[in-house]
Parts: sequence; C-alpha cells; structure tokens
Amino acid sequence: MSALPSEPTAAAPEQILHEVFGYAQFRGPQQAIVHHVTTGGDALVLMPTGGGKSLCYQIPAIARHRAGQGVTVVVSPLIALMHDQVGALHEAGVSAAFLNSTLDWEETQDVERRLMRGEITLLYAAPERVTTPRFLSQLDSLHERGKLALFAIDEAHCVSQWGHDFRPEYRALTVLHERYAAVPRIALTATADALTRADIVERLQLEEARQFVSSFDRPNIRYTIVEKKDATTQLLRFIEREHEGDAGVVYCQSRKRVEDVAQSLCDAGLNALPYHAGLDAAVRQKHQDRFLREEGIVMVATIAFGMGIDKPDVRFVAHLDMPKNIEGYYQETGRAGRDGEPADAWMAYGLQDVVNQRRMIDESPAGEEFKQVMRGKLDALLSLAEASDCRRVRLLGYFGEKSTPCGNCDNCITPPQVWDGTDAARKLLSTVYRVQQQSGISFGAGHVMDILRGKSTEKVKQYGHERISTFGIGSEFTEPQLRGVLRQLIAIGALAVDAQAYNTLQLTEGSRAVLRGETQVMLRESVSQPAEKKRRERTARGAPSPAAATLDASAQARFAALKAWRGEVAREHNLPAYVIFHDATLAAIAEAAPATLEDLQGISGIGAKKLEAYGADVLRVCAAF
Ligand code: ADP
Ligand code: ZN
Repeated sequence: MSALPSEPTAAAPEQILHEVFGYAQFRGPQQAIVHHVTTGGDALVLMPTGGGKSLCYQIPAIARHRAGQGVTVVVSPLIALMHDQVGALHEAGVSAAFLNSTLDWEETQDVERRLMRGEITLLYAAPERVTTPRFLSQLDSLHERGKLALFAIDEAHCVSQWGHDFRPEYRALTVLHERYAAVPRIALTATADALTRADIVERLQLEEARQFVSSFDRPNIRYTIVEKKDATTQLLRFIEREHEGDAGVVYCQSRKRVEDVAQSLCDAGLNALPYHAGLDAAVRQKHQDRFLREEGIVMVATIAFGMGIDKPDVRFVAHLDMPKNIEGYYQETGRAGRDGEPADAWMAYGLQDVVNQRRMIDESPAGEEFKQVMRGKLDALLSLAEASDCRRVRLLGYFGEKSTPCGNCDNCITPPQVWDGTDAARKLLSTVYRVQQQSGISFGAGHVMDILRGKSTEKVKQYGHERISTFGIGSEFTEPQLRGVLRQLIAIGALAVDAQAYNTLQLTEGSRAVLRGETQVMLRESVSQPAEKKRRERTARGAPSPAAATLDASAQARFAALKAWRGEVAREHNLPAYVIFHDATLAAIAEAAPATLEDLQGISGIGAKKLEAYGADVLRVCAAF
C-alpha cells in the first residue's frame, strides 16, 4: 500500500509504547487495536477493567498528532478523574488537557486557545460538554482544517439502559458521527454482555466498526462468596486475616449502612472513609482524593463510588450487600488488582439480599418487560452466589466465555460439601401451603421454619399450628440448612416473598414442580469454621505489597525508600503516587539496584520523559543503600 501524505508516518506505535510509556510490549489485543485506529479505522473495544484500554486510544492519538492530524477528543463521564488522567499524561510528556465544570472561565479559555492552536494531543471532556453548540463550532473549525484526529468514547456502556451506568447524555454523541463522518471513532467499555454490546453498536452507530473482544478473565482476582451472618464482623476478620494495611473498597447498599460500617471499621483501628451521594460534594471529593493519594485506605461506599477509579493497587473489593446483577458485580469487583498483582473479590450474601433485590425490582416504576429482564439478571447472580462449582467458570460463562475450573476461587480452593435439599424443600413448601390453608393468611420465614422443626413457640401455639400435619417433620434440619433451602427456593422462583405483607412467604407457579419432586434442589453446606481456617493458611501473605513480595532484605529497604521519595513527588505534583511510578516499577528498580541511568533504561514503566525527570533522583535514593 502506498503511503498517502495524510497517513501517520512520524512514529510507529511500538516506538511510542517504548519511548513514551516505557513498556516493552503490547498486551493482548492492544497492538491490533492500536494499528487499526492509528490508520483511521473505527473500533469497538471490549476489555475487562485493568486490561489496558487507555493505551488503545492514547497511542493512536499521539501517533496521529505527530503526523499532523490534530487533536483526539476523549469523551468520558468521569469528571472527577480527568485531572489525574491528564496529570498522568503530562508525567509521560504528552500534551493533554480537560474541559469540564471544575475549570473557571479563564482556564477554559486557555484550554480552548491551545486547542485551536493545535497544541493539544488529547482533550478530555464530559459528554454534555462535547455536544454543546459552542464546543461543536470549535470542532467544526478544527475539522475544516483537518485537525480532528480521533474521537475516543470511554465507558461506552453508559449509552445503554441495559448497562448499569446509563447516562442519557451519551445518546447525543451520535452527532459526532453525523457531523464528522470521516473522523475515526473508538468506543471502549468493560461491560460485556451481548445485550449491552448490541445496544452500544446501535446507539453509537458503530455498525461498521471492527469489534475487538478480549477475554474477560481477571486471573489475579480471587472470588469468594460467604454466607452472611454478622457481615461487619465477617468483613473485619477477612481484612485482618488477609489485607492488613491494604487499600480496598467495601460496597454497601444504603447510605446509612455505609456510615455504620465505616464507623465500625474505624473503631477497629482501620483507616476507613465513607462515600455516598448523600455526602457533600466537597467531602466526597476529599475522600476520593485521599483514597487515591494515600496508602492503605478502605473506602466504604455505595455504588456512587468507583466508576473508572483507575487506582491500580486496590487489593480487595468487598460486597456487604448483593449487587443487582452480574454486570454490576463484575464491574465493581474488577476495580481490584488492576496492576495484575493478587487481589480479592469478597462478598457476604444472605436471604435478606434476595428479598431486598426482588422487592426493589417489583416496586420499581419500570414497565413489566424491563422488570422481567432485571429479574433474569438477578437470578443469574443468585445462582452464582449459590453455586458450589467454580465461580470463575460461571462468571465467564455468563459473558459467553468457556473456561475450566480456575483454582483461584473459594469453591476451587475449598470445595463445599453439597447436600440434597429436595426433601427439605418439599416439606418447607408444603408447610407454607398448609399454614395458608389453615389460617387463611401467610407467615414469614422464621415461623414456617419453627413449625417444620417442631418448635412450640408462643406464636405457634397462638395460631394452633402444632396441629398442622407437617409440624415437626423437619426436626432433623438445622436452621441454617433451612435458610439455605429458602434462599435457593426464592432464587429459583419456587417461592416468593411478599414485601407488601410483612415479608410473608407465598407459593408461586414454580412451587408445583418442586412439590411434586420434579425439581432437584442441591445446596451448599453452610461454610463451617474449619474450612475458613484452612483457607487462611493457604492465602497468608507476608509482604505488604505483592509487587515487592520476592525482594531480599536490601532490596526491601530500597523499595521502602523509593516509596517514601515517590510520596513526596506525588504530593508536590498534586497527583496520586501511582501516576509517578507503579509499585511494580519501584520494585523492579529496587531489585536492579541501579548505579547509572543506563541501568534504569528498559525497566517497565520508565519512559523517556520520566527517565529525564526522575532518573537522577532515583539513583540518589538507591545509592543511599
Ligand atoms: P483499563 O482502562 O482497561 O481498566 P488501564 O488502561 O488503566 O486499564 O491499564 C491498566 C494498567 O495496566 C495501567 O496501570 C497501565 O499503565 C498498565 N498497562 C497497560 N498496557 C500495558 C502494557 N502494554 N504493558 C505494561 N503495562 C500496561
Ligand atoms: Zn474456581
């Protein structure tokens, strides 16, 4: 193919990868994507969190800017993160800027002037900004001069109501295609289900775009789902056991619970902060900044926190309440371990979660068709929680990927005992039926279990429920076992909880097959103490940072000194520490014990600009040992 003058010739993408970012190789499909987009192709990129989406548009942006093709506009809903994203590019020596509501008028004008002069390689902007008449007229003028290189649409699932972060403003982005049809577009998301994907293609008019779908596996994340007893205490034990001093995120459903849990963690001596939409914007921003900039903070939050948090060293994500669906669960847990080092996704789940989530769907004002989709998605998550086989196989299966047992989830590490709960399920359902027949009203789970187990409580006596034919016929079952059965029955839709009537149990269409013995109900045995102990021994980690786990004593000392130095630089630059250097880069430097600038060259994460800016300092810090 003959090179047209407008084709980028200034620098090969590989060269930019080495020189600007200091990385040796592209990861997975990055190379194919970067080449496709650099040469003017449209792309839809589906890659898990931590997969390396940013480079997929940043390198084409740099290549096209160097080739004289102008600016790349990055559309992102994450205003709170733009400052750090742009800061990270500056650290790498790339000219970048953002336009959003945090800038005052003068700053805005300054960015616009630099934009029009062609000085900016990457411009980050929120969708509502991109589609204003003022901004579009600036784009028009750049476009007329051939200085509009690329549109990158980040978090593209925001365009779909089937995703979990629907942003109506994203719908208006079709104007980019309609108005600047010749300018290439790349849309990126970490949400993978087929429904959302199809919606993105349709809504953003990406029918012609090449699709790059990566494996969604995050092998460094260990999945664990425990039965909820006292969730806060369970969480504390988990953190004490495996994550002392680590940064983590704890998701809760309500603001009140966020406050309570954050308080409990603080009382236990942890460095925890609350984050939810009810807090003042300034307080929220402060907490987010501290989480990003300080080490070892546990953020207790509602899902208002975290979309696109690109802190790479979050060591655990815990759910104290169940999310709405697997997409949400996967997106939230995906915030752990972006740096590729070992990390945990831990969730406590119980009957109340099932009841709450069902109720939220039932009571939502949405149409019946929408509710049906939501119920189906909830069911998929419930069966993941109840599963006794590999969690990862199920998670990936949900996204259409086949895999084999992973060896890095709770069920693989400690296979749970499974018991046949079919008989217990039939007895429970028939008790629900008989009680309703006899009393003409329905009762809640606790009472039904008491009858089945033959407990003559006040309430049982009051209603004469000792006379029911199933009274005491389930005395061999423990309460946790029956709770498990109830959860499973609700999860498979064979029993319903009526939220309008004191959470009483109701039979459903699906009850019949279970009552007739046509549906087998297999259950995991409640996780017992010994199993938890066994797990602890296997996962104990000595080193505070997995990146430094294999360093010898003198390298550990260099690593600690480098971290302290990095902390100072980050504070001076008002940026998170990882933007200066990742832990893994510092660990590699500590191990190499460099004496000259040449020794630093080739260490992953040290590009030309950083070598120039920090090389001498790094050598000085290392020389002190
Ligand atoms: P995503 O946006 O897909 O969640 P990022 O773009 O933030 O992921 O990348 C995750 C981390 O991986 C970042 O810290 C990034 O610097 C690093 N990374 C990306 N690509 C490479 C590569 N080719 N080599 C080494 N590190 C990489
Ligand atoms: Zn597994």
